[in-house]
Amino acid sequence: MEIKDNKLKLTFASGAGMVTGSNFLLEGNGKKFLVDCGLIQGEKLADDENWMPFPYPVNEIDILFITHAHVDHIGRIPKLISEGFKGRIVSTIPTKEITELMLLDTLNILKHDKTHDLAHIYTTEIISEAMSLWDTLEYHQTLNVDHGFQFAFKDSGHILGSGILEVIYNGKKIVFTGDLGNSPSPLLRDTEMINDADYLIMESVYGDRNHEDREVRKGKLEEVIKENYKRKGTLIIPVFSLERSQELLFEIDSLVENKKIPAMPIFLDSPLAIKLTKVYKKYEHYFNDRAQAIIETGNNIFNFTGLELTEETEESKAILKVPNPKIIMAGSGMSNGGRIIHHEINYLPDPNNTILLIGYQSVGTLGRLIQEGVKKLQIQGQEIMLKARVVQISGYSGHKDSDHLVEFVEPMAGKVKKVFLVMGEPKAALFLAQKMKDNLNIDATVPSAGDSVMLDC
Ligand SMILES: [Zn+2]
Repeated sequence: MEIKDNKLKLTFASGAGMVTGSNFLLEGNGKKFLVDCGLIQGEKLADDENWMPFPYPVNEIDILFITHAHVDHIGRIPKLISEGFKGRIVSTIPTKEITELMLLDTLNILKHDKTHDLAHIYTTEIISEAMSLWDTLEYHQTLNVDHGFQFAFKDSGHILGSGILEVIYNGKKIVFTGDLGNSPSPLLRDTEMINDADYLIMESVYGDRNHEDREVRKGKLEEVIKENYKRKGTLIIPVFSLERSQELLFEIDSLVENKKIPAMPIFLDSPLAIKLTKVYKKYEHYFNDRAQAIIETGNNIFNFTGLELTEETEESKAILKVPNPKIIMAGSGMSNGGRIIHHEINYLPDPNNTILLIGYQSVGTLGRLIQEGVKKLQIQGQEIMLKARVVQISGYSGHKDSDHLVEFVEPMAGKVKKVFLVMGEPKAALFLAQKMKDNLNIDATVPSAGDSVMLDC
């Protein structure tokens, strides 16, 4: 069909004015496309507002594009299908594979939610149906869709398989960044540059903050591990199963292989992280040249002397009997669930132990209380005294910080008509919008959830 509409309508269904819940609708010329279908997450894995009906006719959506497999970008796919979605789903190859594991893990938690009757939405059948609707693209492979639309993914460098989605229509380019990686990453390729977007829908989670230098963090990790060895303690590290666990394994592997740290048992105590590490191993050819060069020397970068993968509950419990010094990595990354909770009960009351926080700790989580140094903690109904050493390394973020977000848009200055800052708290997004106006004279705005805009094409 020829181009009839010289305007496309973009709706920020959710994921605007908030960090999570990515879900955008692009429509025009007889077509409707969604970008991401994520869970809105606050203190809980899924906020109540997730279970309201989608604000668009689900059965009229042609294609759902997925930028990457974090739950705040994929978590409502089962709900979309249960409400009548009949279209296709399109992502990169690793994103499809990781999504299946992430949705099955989410299912294990959400199916117990009786308030919203989620046992009917989060079923293995619905997840299988999602997989049967799913097509994949390599980075840079073009998907032509009738009515004049063209789509392609570029590498965003955020997690394995993460993509920046480019939409070309009537000679104009609309770009959805998804989440932008904190390049250079130890494993992933750098975020690809974009210099020709007409409209940019961009994440802004760290719009008002900069991270600790990446060079510094590995040195700090080495210091923390050595200090724990000296104290003959247990070092516990709450980790996110996806990306952060694999990055950490890779960095510890390099410390072990280069004999920078003494030998001791190191446990990866997370069934999901163990499964995801296998997917990472399978897609090593997606890694950056530095990581691939190390792999080519014959080094298994996710395995080293002392590493034990504890998949079964009994194996996890048996860690307690292993003498110190030792290291335990377990989920969840914010200590709001998962096996880390049991380790925190066991190890936080001893001043010889250390807890290392490497990720963002959101308000209302146990991780946040530990980060703030609260001494008396309530964990699973028990009063636990926090006497262990608390150490933080902030450089492990998977997102670009404020300066690097500005650097990302810089090549587009003078060409881009408008930047919409999404996936950030209003404070962070507004700060970034102002910075882009001041430094680059870019027209940047911060939409609210539910807003629609018309894009001239
Ligand atoms: Zn993400």
